[in-house]
Amino acid sequence: MPGCTACGTEIEASFRFCPWCGTVQRRKIVEFFWPHANSPGRALRVTRYLGDERHVRFSVWDDGVARAAVSLDEDEALRLAAFLEETSACCHDAAETL
Ligand SMILES: [Zn+2]
Repeated sequence: MPGCTACGTEIEASFRFCPWCGTVQRRKIVEFFWPHANSPGRALRVTRYLGDERHVRFSVWDDGVARAAVSLDEDEALRLAAFLEETSACCHDAAETL
C-alpha cells in the first residue's frame, strides 16, 4: 500500500486525496462519458489536470482513438459546469423559447 506523498500515511492507491492531510495524490483525474445515440462508437474523455498548470482537457474518442481535443482553463471549465447545471433545470417550455 503506497504512502501519501506529503504525510507518508499509508492510503489506498485509488485515493485521489489523502484523507489525513488533504494532499492531492494524483496529477490528473479522468472520467469517460458515454455518447448520445446519435454518436455511436464515440466517447468523451474529460481529464482534470491537478499540477501546476491546472486545466481540464476534453478528448473526443472514436473507436478507441482520440480524434480531437481541447483544453479549458479553470475559469472556462467552471463556466461550462455552471452552464450544464443551469440548463439541466430548464423545463420544456424554456427549451421551446430558445
Ligand atoms: Zn497525507
